[in-house]
Amino acid sequence: MRYISTRGQAPVLSFEQAMLTGLASDGGLYVPETIPTLSADEIAGLAGKSYEEAAFIVMRPFIGDTFTDAEFKEIIAKAYAGFKHDARAPLVQLGPNHFLLELFHGPTLAFKDFAMQLIGQLFQAALSRSGKRVTIVGATSGDTGSAAIEAFKGLSNVDVFILFPHGRVSDVQRRQMTTPPEANVHALAVEGDFDDCQAALKEMFADIAFRDHVKLAAVNSINWARVLAQVVYYFTSAVSLGAPHREVSFTVPTGNFGDIFAGYIAKRMGLPIKDLVIATNQNDILHRTMVTGAYTKEGVTPSISPSMDIQVSSNFERALFDVYDREGAAIAQLMTELKSGEFKISQGAMDRLRDTFASGRASEDETSATISAMQARTGEVLCPHTAVAVKVAEEHLSDVPMVSLATAHPAKFPAAVEAACGIHPALPVHMADLFERDERFTVVANDLDGLKSLIKERLA
Ligand SMILES: *Cc1c(COP(=O)(O)O)cnc(C)c1O
Repeated sequence: MRYISTRGQAPVLSFEQAMLTGLASDGGLYVPETIPTLSADEIAGLAGKSYEEAAFIVMRPFIGDTFTDAEFKEIIAKAYAGFKHDARAPLVQLGPNHFLLELFHGPTLAFKDFAMQLIGQLFQAALSRSGKRVTIVGATSGDTGSAAIEAFKGLSNVDVFILFPHGRVSDVQRRQMTTPPEANVHALAVEGDFDDCQAALKEMFADIAFRDHVKLAAVNSINWARVLAQVVYYFTSAVSLGAPHREVSFTVPTGNFGDIFAGYIAKRMGLPIKDLVIATNQNDILHRTMVTGAYTKEGVTPSISPSMDIQVSSNFERALFDVYDREGAAIAQLMTELKSGEFKISQGAMDRLRDTFASGRASEDETSATISAMQARTGEVLCPHTAVAVKVAEEHLSDVPMVSLATAHPAKFPAAVEAACGIHPALPVHMADLFERDERFTVVANDLDGLKSLIKERLA
């Protein structure tokens, strides 16, 4: 299996190389050259299998010869061993045809653990074989950073630097990043917003000298291996609701478009997904794009669902690549236009996007009202991101089962949850002492050169 860049100018790589590299050298994102498919019988055969067994079957065709079957099974087993629910991704029912896929039973209580725990084990296996060392730099709006730190802390061949927007992540999110004592963990609070953090990360990758000097690797949602890990739970949940004999729809609370793009891959692999609904908060660039056909940057307005507070949605480029018939030059052109704030999507490409994706948006008030109404009706306490999805899903209910993705545990966002429904969600026992642990982080200016020197100094 070979991986190509969405902008057509970077070297073709193996799974291992694409995973270790992250962003392509032409600024694009790696995607598989072809999308493997599972037959209806193979999908039906996932029923009754454990999450780990299903993960192996779904992901194996993408791995090529990077790992043997035995190695890959062991990697998967280690990745999900720390999850606190035997199903890993259990479904609960919210209403007659509406289900919640709980993706928050991992070590940092958000769905990003599914990808990050796997990627930690993939890196560990690949690097210990080659004897190489890498520096992971990640930008986070909150949940990616803690998930990365939890996955890489203490590993001997990796240093991990996480850039997060100072003062714009929740206390729980910050403490999850700043309390691990391992020396290879570096939490950096950038005086800017998430887009500033993400822009700094992209610039670091574009600086070849710096990239080579520190052996930079990215584990942001642009990393193909992360998208791949997330494909699995679309299969396990759809199969438990009757796929492949029955269609299933999904509503996904979306920021960087990684999670919902994984759903798109599942669909292309043969899973009968009817609707894939993009749910955004008030930072609704993707919803506006679906409505108007123009992808227009606006400033970020902080919300109660901070992990979706972004205005440039990196993984959307992968979807564009497909609807532009995989023409790298066309994508490079759109991304150049975006530098001045906007690009327009061709009618043909828009038609194809609308064939696959629906969309909706939830305002702050609607998000809070959904938390409160769901708690009153079902007893289920939703995190604000999940509430955005549930609100938008309710506008798309039909006779096809709808699965809303519950991307974080409500205790990660206690203030917003309590304000909405009066209940203060408690942290699970394994994290109950989070607020007693010592914090360790460095506040840094939103300045690329300063960031680069700091990273070099820490590694010296
Ligand atoms: C990251 C995150 C999202 C958005 O996921 P994307 O893959 O960036 O679209 C939604 N909810 C929570 C809780 C998150 O941490």
